[in-house]
Amino acid sequence: MAIAEPQFDDLYREVIIDHFRKPRNRGTLPAPSQHAEGMNPVCGDEIALDLDVSGGTIAALAFTGQGCSISQSSASMMTQQVRGRSIVEAERIADLVSAMLVDGAEPSAEIGDLEALQGVAKFPVRVKCALLAWKVLREGLDQAKSPAAAAL
Ligand code: ZN
Repeated sequence: MAIAEPQFDDLYREVIIDHFRKPRNRGTLPAPSQHAEGMNPVCGDEIALDLDVSGGTIAALAFTGQGCSISQSSASMMTQQVRGRSIVEAERIADLVSAMLVDGAEPSAEIGDLEALQGVAKFPVRVKCALLAWKVLREGLDQAKSPAAAAL
């Protein structure tokens, strides 16, 4: 029996297209407590993220960027899923998304709409697209946890 090739339908689920066309929390914050940026040179994706972290909680966040639909929709879904959560909870969600994309783990209910990215795991080149926003988020959260940030 032939092994089925991964289908592009798996890659471009409706929810991904929707977030790409109507990104949530897109823009900048007037006075962010943290700012982080990253890019994926393989695909040309760029994400810049403003965070407002207060008392260990992500009170607000907004992103700007350009690139493929996977990278931008992942960023949009990321902002929705971690807003209002503690740093610890947000890092846990980032871990669960990585486990699904990199290790092929079944999506946890905690990741919400992000389960739509499950099919991306079949396309290793695109996994970096999907993880870019999460890499940038982790960098911003690391900044928020640093002693310098605590002194502000
Ligand atoms: Zn990409």
